[in-house]
Amino acid sequence: MSHPILSVEGVNKTYDGFKAITELNFYLFEGELRTVIGPNGAGKSTFFDLISGRAKPDTGKLEFGQNTDLTKLNEYQINRLGVGRKFQAPSVYAEHTVYDNLVLSLNRPRGVFASLFQKLDSYHRDKLDEFLKLIRLDAKRHWKAGLLAHGEKQWLEIGMLLAQEPRLLLVDEPAAGMTDEETHRTGELLLSLAGKHSLIVIEHDMTFVKQIAQNGKVTVLHQGSVLCEGKFDDIQANPKVREVYLGRGKAN
Ligand code: ADP
Ligand code: MG
Repeated sequence: MSHPILSVEGVNKTYDGFKAITELNFYLFEGELRTVIGPNGAGKSTFFDLISGRAKPDTGKLEFGQNTDLTKLNEYQINRLGVGRKFQAPSVYAEHTVYDNLVLSLNRPRGVFASLFQKLDSYHRDKLDEFLKLIRLDAKRHWKAGLLAHGEKQWLEIGMLLAQEPRLLLVDEPAAGMTDEETHRTGELLLSLAGKHSLIVIEHDMTFVKQIAQNGKVTVLHQGSVLCEGKFDDIQANPKVREVYLGRGKAN
């Protein structure tokens, strides 16, 4: 039995009296890919804010690994621990090449731009080659990132996250604005990362959720708490989930 890489217990977070997160309990195991869904305003992004240190809980426990208390660390420290977060909008260095964007993201002890002029050792060169293939941008490694299509920028940003060699990846709505083909490819990419990494993916495109949740669990957030958790088919058939999404064309 593997250990939880993330344990969340009894977490609450209020904004101006509004309960964004209420008594949230959540466990993620090493190597797991967990998909989180829930209606708009359910607290999904706030959940990521709490894990990544961007926001602090009012009460409750957030533990990384077996005894690292995330509530005591700031965003930078949590990132250095191995928690990488991908926001919805891609933020790549448009004037730099795909390759240099990855170099800039490498987990190396030096200033960001100084690292462009530092010779890469063979370990990092091999790693970058591996990431370029994984994100399918090998042939475009010398392209300026600003010239990439929207979907390709998103993949580059996933590559930049990987370059930090995180243990836990937090990915917020990666398929937003993508074509169906790009979305499917993104699903394959995320699935290929599971096992080596632990991932939490927030998504609302149900075709995509079905694809990435094929071997894993889905957690449904509603009003800041876990409504239910389980296999995709059970979640989809769950009357409570249907009620939450009632009147919507798709889970969102
Ligand atoms: P989701 O990502 O599931 O759509 P969010 O986590 O973004 O939901 O938001 C949950 C609720 O918390 C919303 O009502 C939102 O307005 C509120 N909220 C989130 N972050 C903040 C913040 N920094 N300040 C004030 N309210 C916030
Ligand atoms: Mg959100």
